[in-house]
Amino acid sequence: MDFGFNEEQERFRVEVREFLQKELTPEFWQGLGTKPPEDQEYSQEFSRKLASRGWLGIGWPQEYGGQGRPYTDQLVCAEEIAYHRAPILYHFWAVDLAGPVLIGVGSEDLKKAYVPGILAADINFCIGFTEPEAGSDLASLQARAVADGDDYVINGQKMFISLAHKADYCLLAARTNFEAPKHRGISLFVLDMKAPGVNVSPTPTMGDMLASTVYLDSVRVNKDALVGEIDRGWYHLAICLDHERIFVGALVARRRRMFDELVEYVRSTRRNGRLLNENPHIRNNLAQIGIELDVGRLLSYRTAWLLEKGAIPFAEASMTKVLTSELDQRLTNFGVNVLGLHGQLKQGSKWVPLQGRMEQAYRVSILESIGGGTNEIQRSIIALMGLGLPRD
Ligand SMILES: Cc1cc2nc3c(=O)[nH]c(=O)nc-3n(C[C@H](O)[C@H](O)[C@H](O)COP(=O)(O)OP(=O)(O)OC[C@H]3O[C@@H](n4cnc5c(N)ncnc54)[C@H](O)[C@@H]3O)c2cc1C
Repeated sequence: MDFGFNEEQERFRVEVREFLQKELTPEFWQGLGTKPPEDQEYSQEFSRKLASRGWLGIGWPQEYGGQGRPYTDQLVCAEEIAYHRAPILYHFWAVDLAGPVLIGVGSEDLKKAYVPGILAADINFCIGFTEPEAGSDLASLQARAVADGDDYVINGQKMFISLAHKADYCLLAARTNFEAPKHRGISLFVLDMKAPGVNVSPTPTMGDMLASTVYLDSVRVNKDALVGEIDRGWYHLAICLDHERIFVGALVARRRRMFDELVEYVRSTRRNGRLLNENPHIRNNLAQIGIELDVGRLLSYRTAWLLEKGAIPFAEASMTKVLTSELDQRLTNFGVNVLGLHGQLKQGSKWVPLQGRMEQAYRVSILESIGGGTNEIQRSIIALMGLGLPRD
């Protein structure tokens, strides 16, 4: 059993870390610090810097401008980026979700049209799957795409679409066959978000990021915008999930950073004359969270390793997501309590400890057990695919 990264990967980790430390200077953060929290994680300029090093397409095939490297290399890079809290929201949906689907099943014309722009961080995507009546049961989606000459005409409504108001394009799921069983009548399209009939209504979330309702009113897309086979969209979506799994793993590193800062805080902060790190309740909780962070990290490595071996780690990826999202809720809930009443103040207040990051992370943590598929659904996947229990 070889338990660890190879020398080349360790060197790569150092290279990414040094780059991030050089780029993410106090001046860089100061510039972002004046923006609302959502925009602090959104920077096309920074995404372009990653792009210029080839780090947006580490796991992508070389023929499409990627580096063709293993998933674990991609995870190493993603972990460092997450630990350093580098902004990724400009490119995330394009690189981790839409791009892999285009490469996997898109036509050559679609690949030529969008893949270079994604890899250069010149264009970005949102993901338009969820609808008011189709979230967990996504296959019930009702947006309709009806063929009309060279086009499809699309009508419907999408909900909770992250950063749709800033996206150039959307990877959209719509129903193209109204007679077939629900999983067999869905197709994917590239939708230009500036097309006539697309209306975006941004909705604030408790995590600051805007997740929009998108209204589609007789929107015309050319038939060339169909991604993959007609009516096979449900099966093409699995590609999105594979790549999202790597990202979920990398998020453990973001939690580790929050944890490290909390440990440092209790080491250096006195309350009622005593250092917080002498408090047994605080020590026990930190020890427990530290254990779970390590478990989450190992689970994420196992997921990447399985992907590299060609397996599809349904259950393992769901385990990572459930464990780490709920751990995040425990960590940030505990963190906000340890910081005391000032810990509930928002970023920008002169009294808030840890620059208000704990309070913001606490609000974001609530969304993490919902976005990308709720934890109830993840548990159902673990029962079905991991334990072999019957479908509920
Ligand atoms: C911050 C955020 C960002 C998002 N970004 C996007 C995006 O960019 N693009 C996109 O397409 N979608 C996005 N979503 C939507 C997300 O994928 C859905 O919210 C999620 O899949 C749940 O769907 P729902 O909200 O309709 O809840 P529902 O499916 O209505 O579920 C409601 C509750 O019932 C439970 N439940 C439902 N069915 C079952 C079952 N069979 N067994 C047990 N429990 C069940 C759920 O777990 C949940 O607790 C985002 C969501 C959030 C919170």
